[in-house]
Amino acid sequence: MYKTILITGGAGYIGSHTSYLLNQLGYKIIIIDKFVHNQNFNQPWAKLIKADIADQNILNQVFAENKIHAIMHFAAFIEVGESVKKPKEFYENNVSKTLNLLNTMLIFGINKFIFSSSCAIYGNPTNIPIDENHQFAPISPYGKNKLCVEFILQDYAKTYDLKYVSLRYFNAAGALPKYNLGEQHDPETHIIPLMLRAIKNNDVFKIFGSDYKTNDGTCIRDYIHVLDIAQAHILALKYIEERNQSNSFNLGSEKGYSVKEMIQEAENICNKKMNSKIYDRRPGDVDVLIADSTKIKTILGWKPKYSDLKFILKSAWKWECKNIFPMKKSASLKNLKTMYN
Ligand code: UDP
Repeated sequence: MYKTILITGGAGYIGSHTSYLLNQLGYKIIIIDKFVHNQNFNQPWAKLIKADIADQNILNQVFAENKIHAIMHFAAFIEVGESVKKPKEFYENNVSKTLNLLNTMLIFGINKFIFSSSCAIYGNPTNIPIDENHQFAPISPYGKNKLCVEFILQDYAKTYDLKYVSLRYFNAAGALPKYNLGEQHDPETHIIPLMLRAIKNNDVFKIFGSDYKTNDGTCIRDYIHVLDIAQAHILALKYIEERNQSNSFNLGSEKGYSVKEMIQEAENICNKKMNSKIYDRRPGDVDVLIADSTKIKTILGWKPKYSDLKFILKSAWKWECKNIFPMKKSASLKNLKTMYN
């Protein structure tokens, strides 16, 4: 019998690629997603429930009617800047609702949980590359949300029958255009789609700050292909199944590129110049973020296969060329109906 995985936020960027990989491996997938980014849904293999994870009736129904083997929890607000403006909404959405999900899964005897955490829990790094022993000093409410959930998971795992893996993502990037999967946020705030759209539409790409403590003055980030992130979720599930333990891992390519280097690479891939202009710094951005991913490589045997920057940009460019933006208008949450594929 195929095992069923519940993916919250499975219609989102990382959730959808993980869902694809789980399906390839023969898992059955149920997705709960409230479509905050107005994205299209391109996963005929999954059962989709359009709902908020805070909807207790839906959760009860899903857990009662399905034998859920594990939960992969991607559903969250992700925009760091927004989290500063709307901490209440962020704590409610990213912490309270996660707590409720955990409490409900435990009532139904589900005990395997994989959590989308973030390198934002480390704050402004004191040393590079960042390993898991780096101090926790999140700057934004978003980073604090992720850390709160990590603390909840630690405490719950000590006391209750819960096994979890937290994956602390660095910068997710790239796409799987062959399966109509890629980055679709509305509004888009991430560097790669914005750069590629600037090239495609002859728009200006805004460089946020050129006075950072880096060689060329622009921020350095660690870009990791979304399929390598998806693969880490599969290994995390195996870890829980086989070792019956909990753990937290960084997930990055261990290579850093500045914004200016990214522009150069994108121009090479697209064979076209980009119009770019220096703007003020974006609040909350730190100079350099590069992962030390030794722990996940050693313990889970994770090996990034797709995280070469050229490959990341090529896959993202194919996706951008294939897709027509802006995205479709989606119904308001009030009107969303439960829908099964
Ligand atoms: N960035 C930029 N212009 C943009 C979007 C992003 O210069 O239009 C920079 C941003 O300041 C950061 C890097 O690109 O240094 C990565 O930002 P992104 O929002 O993609 O990811 P984050 O690191 O915030 O998770």
